[in-house]
Amino acid sequence: MTDSRRGLILINTGPGKGKTTAAMGTALRAVGNGMKVLMLQFLKGSWHYGELDAVQAFGENFILKQMGRGFVKVGGAEADPEDIRLVQEAWAEARKAIGSGEWNMVILDEINYAISYGMLDAAEVAEVLRGRPEMVHVILTGRNAHPLLVEMADTVTEMREVKHAYEKGILAQRGIEY
Ligand code: ATP
Ligand code: MG
Repeated sequence: MTDSRRGLILINTGPGKGKTTAAMGTALRAVGNGMKVLMLQFLKGSWHYGELDAVQAFGENFILKQMGRGFVKVGGAEADPEDIRLVQEAWAEARKAIGSGEWNMVILDEINYAISYGMLDAAEVAEVLRGRPEMVHVILTGRNAHPLLVEMADTVTEMREVKHAYEKGILAQRGIEY
């Protein structure tokens, strides 16, 4: 056991609900400790989530940005070049933010999806995480976290779905899903 302060890598993955919202809970905890948090949302962009408005209350201490356009085709089809471009743009901003020393915590929301869809190289992400300034915490969310990143992370949580309202035909609810 050591009590020295250091930056951690956290991953919230798995099929159950709660990956993104757990990252936001951690962000809230960090901001309450006077830390600065940047959350970049890969792929997201079409829905207006409540948190986009809520974080405004924290001003420059908690910045949340949607970096995608919200709808990405999955399955057999090749990824749309426009989505790949947006992912690469989000990644460029992410790596700059991680290295800048300006943020105590950087959250890469849904980055695991972007990697698992082949839109972003896991080895490149690992390299940037490995070379980051010592005190920066990074949280990666999304299903199917890449084994390379799971291996290097300090804390990995897999959300397990016990049940989800959607299975009963209950559609996304305000305040719960968005
Ligand atoms: P949240 O943003 O609520 O923390 P999440 O990040 O764990 O969820 P994602 O995989 O990013 O989940 O999916 C986003 C949306 O899909 C959420 O609105 C969530 O309620 C919904 N969702 C998550 N898991 C399931 C599931 N197992 N079945 C149906 N819908 C789901
Ligand atoms: Mg999510």
